[in-house]
Amino acid sequence: MARVHNFSAGPAALPRCVLREAQDALLDYAGTGMSVLEMSHRSEAYRAIIEDAEATLRRLLDIPSSYRVLFLQGGATLQFSGIPLNLMRRGRAGYVVSGNFARLAWQEARRYGNAEVLASSEATGFDRIPGLDAVERRAAAGDLDYLYICQNNTIFGTQFRTLPDCADTPLVADVSSCFLSGPLDIERYGLLFAGAQKNAGPAGVTVVIVREDLIADGPARADICPTYLDMRVQAEKGSMYNTPNTFGIYLCGKVFRWIEQTDGLIAMAQRNRAKADLLYRTIDESGLFQGTADVESRSLCNVTFRTCDAETDEAFVSHARERGIEGIKGHRMAGGLRASIYNAVSMDSVSALAACMREFELSRGARSM
Ligand SMILES: *Cc1c(COP(=O)(O)O)cnc(C)c1O
Repeated sequence: MARVHNFSAGPAALPRCVLREAQDALLDYAGTGMSVLEMSHRSEAYRAIIEDAEATLRRLLDIPSSYRVLFLQGGATLQFSGIPLNLMRRGRAGYVVSGNFARLAWQEARRYGNAEVLASSEATGFDRIPGLDAVERRAAAGDLDYLYICQNNTIFGTQFRTLPDCADTPLVADVSSCFLSGPLDIERYGLLFAGAQKNAGPAGVTVVIVREDLIADGPARADICPTYLDMRVQAEKGSMYNTPNTFGIYLCGKVFRWIEQTDGLIAMAQRNRAKADLLYRTIDESGLFQGTADVESRSLCNVTFRTCDAETDEAFVSHARERGIEGIKGHRMAGGLRASIYNAVSMDSVSALAACMREFELSRGARSM
């Protein structure tokens, strides 16, 4: 069975062994005589599955007991509403608009209160993480309910190198596309969340990690917050206010276990760094390909680049496809090319892409230009 080199931005590559294990258990999970797909979420067997997923994630990220872990539905997108509804107690939050998903989050928050853009890189086509001096000064002033960032900008291929220093203002971060790509210092955050389909599992699960004191009093906007989005309720109910995405959480748990078995997040970060280094080196040495993100802001998860024009970009996508390389067309909003090199994308796949780029360039005679 041929598996392609999958550089999709999400839903994205999953570890082959995880898919295999799920396949093996698909008809009969651990001698229960039924599939996880067919099992009550209130059953003993399922309780063990969700508890193991949470426990493994807590070990991987060293999540303090003062933080709650939620497995919710609605994608990262629903949390664009869930966050202001739960946290905007004084009706004021600051947003760093570093890409499309950050902009969407800001637009959603404006429906519930005063959501201020404190920094933006929109003027330069979201090619960088904006300067954070003004953001940090504002956070230090202490009048914001939270400061919001999108830590890795999936579409534009940029990533925060360091987190803003927010003093006592809770930092809220969308980490969808960099979640579990390396260790995180959980205590730097008030809340972080990730749609699983980038790096942690299948679509349909959103992991929310939130400091308990921020949700202990219930939602800031209890008057209008849907019960489903009430993080206190979800925490009290163990993410089972209603039927959760049972199979999705099961697969996430398997991915968490796989990360643990492959030596954890420090080792994962080293492998990811090596993959990104190879691709950026290939781009920087090329006479045809060029990176689209500012060098200082380059993402280690989504590598954005392009050739000289859209037609050549398209020719490269076809050239790559003939060599079993998929998912490298850029997002429609950014154009160009993008290789998402999440955890399950092997160094072999990245080497294949780099070789394909060099070969394509030679075939175009660009090196002699
Ligand atoms: C993909 C993505 C989203 C949207 O996720 P959904 O699960 O489709 O709602 C939000 N933020 C970031 C950073 C993403 O990469």
